[in-house]
Amino acid sequence: MKDNEFKKLGPLTDKTNSFIDDLHKSGALDALLNELKSVTNQLPESYSVSIDFQLNVCDSNKETSVPLLQTGFVAGKGIELYRHYGDTATQKYLVDGEMCIIPDDYCPHCWEEWDLKFMNPTCPYCDYRLGKEIKYLLDDNTCPWCQEGKVSIDNPTCDNCGKKIDGDMIAWG
Ligand SMILES: [Zn+2]
Ligand SMILES: [Zn+2]
Repeated sequence: MKDNEFKKLGPLTDKTNSFIDDLHKSGALDALLNELKSVTNQLPESYSVSIDFQLNVCDSNKETSVPLLQTGFVAGKGIELYRHYGDTATQKYLVDGEMCIIPDDYCPHCWEEWDLKFMNPTCPYCDYRLGKEIKYLLDDNTCPWCQEGKVSIDNPTCDNCGKKIDGDMIAWG
C-alpha cells in the first residue's frame, strides 16, 4: 500500500496490540485461555493450538489482503501458554516510482505472497520485476540478504554475508 496509507494504519495496529495485552493482563481472557490449555492437554504432544488476532487490510480491487498484525496465544501439552507473533515485518519499495510499504513476503504491487525476492525477482502473480518496475528501498544500509551486515552505494558487498547487492534492484533512500 502507499506510504501515506500505511502511516494512517500504524497507530491502529499499535493500539490493537496493546489492547490485547491489556485484555490479557486484566484477566478477561482467563476463562478462554484456561479452556485452551485444558483442551490442548488432551491432544497428542505434537499438537499446538493457538487463538489468534489479526489486523488485515483487504483491497477489493486486488481481491486480496495483507496482514499488518498477527498475534495470539499458543498452548501445547507440557508447555506454558505463551503469546506469539507472526512475522509482519514490513519493507519499503518503489513501485512504478511511487513509495509503497508491504509485509516482507508480499508483492508491493498486487499484494499476493512473494517470498525471497532477490532470488526470485519476478512476482509469480503479476509479473512485476525487482530491478524493473519495483525497486527495494534501502534507507538504513541493512543488507537485504542477511538483515545483519551493512551495504552502501560505494560498497555494495555485504560485510557480513559477502553477497553483492545488484544496484538495479535497489533504490538508496
Ligand atoms: Zn505481484
Ligand atoms: Zn548480508
